[in-house]
Amino acid sequence: MKFAIQSKGDITSNDIKNQIMSYLLGFELTLDEEEPDIVISVGGDGTLLHAFHRYINRLEHTTFVGVHTGHLGFYADWTPDEVEKLVIHIAKTPFQVVEYPLLEVSIQLNDEDEERHYLALNECTVKSSEGSLVMDVTIKGDHFETFRGDGLCISTPTGSTAYNKALSGAIIHPSLASIQLAEMASINNRVYRTVGSPLVLPQHHTCMLKPVNDVNFDITIDHLSIIHKGVKSIHCRVAEEKVRFARYRPFPFWVRVRESFIGD
Ligand code: NAP
Ligand code: MN
Repeated sequence: MKFAIQSKGDITSNDIKNQIMSYLLGFELTLDEEEPDIVISVGGDGTLLHAFHRYINRLEHTTFVGVHTGHLGFYADWTPDEVEKLVIHIAKTPFQVVEYPLLEVSIQLNDEDEERHYLALNECTVKSSEGSLVMDVTIKGDHFETFRGDGLCISTPTGSTAYNKALSGAIIHPSLASIQLAEMASINNRVYRTVGSPLVLPQHHTCMLKPVNDVNFDITIDHLSIIHKGVKSIHCRVAEEKVRFARYRPFPFWVRVRESFIGD
């Protein structure tokens, strides 16, 4: 089996990376940063987002596992004390794979024929590059509302505990292939009206955002932020692709939610 290790880059994470590396090489696994079967991320959830985007072109062939060197993460759920146990699992046991849904974002620009496609593990956010965001929101082909406010956040189930949660979105179990549309400070008065609640959309229900006036947006895909000029439309849907995580022991989602947000 071929492995790669992505470290957050601090001293603790690098030490653990080196420790995992020497164990796995000792078990005669092969280090392959180009085409790994398993990617071990050492750091935080942010580190796993980086690892995901690094290997985004071979998601079918790659499984991820995360060790956290800071607080417990949603993707990084192994502790540094468990590293020995983890490497033995990786080297000796055939792992189970759990698949989580991803968000597909297709952006059409006025002066480009080809759409730009992105995959997000957490979310996509859309903000105006200047002033309020004004967008027509269409769901499954029907106009739903004209949104005015700071921005919109479209998240995956595993991303629902990240930015989406700060916007009072719901926490969604990752077995539900869905995306969630959450508002950022919508303007609501006698003239402007939005639904005001987060919406959870099932597979095949595309959410389309179309600019009303301004066509320049600050669009984020996970930790990446890209200014898009001359935007015609943005389509969001549950992606065909999935992300695969190696599972060696049960750690139920709701237990992770409790341990992360409520405490033991
Ligand atoms: P960051 O600013 O270092 O991360 C923000 C926090 O979100 C970190 O504590 C990170 O955990 C945590 N996080 C990331 N994914 C998560 C998940 N799926 N569930 C629960 N917590 C999660 O930036 P980053 O590390 O590059 O992460 C980018 C993410 O930050 C974005 O995808 C977005 O979700 C989030 N974000 C949140 C807000 C907000 O809550 N107001 C604003 C902007 C961005 P670690 O410390 O383990 O990395
Ligand atoms: Mn981070």
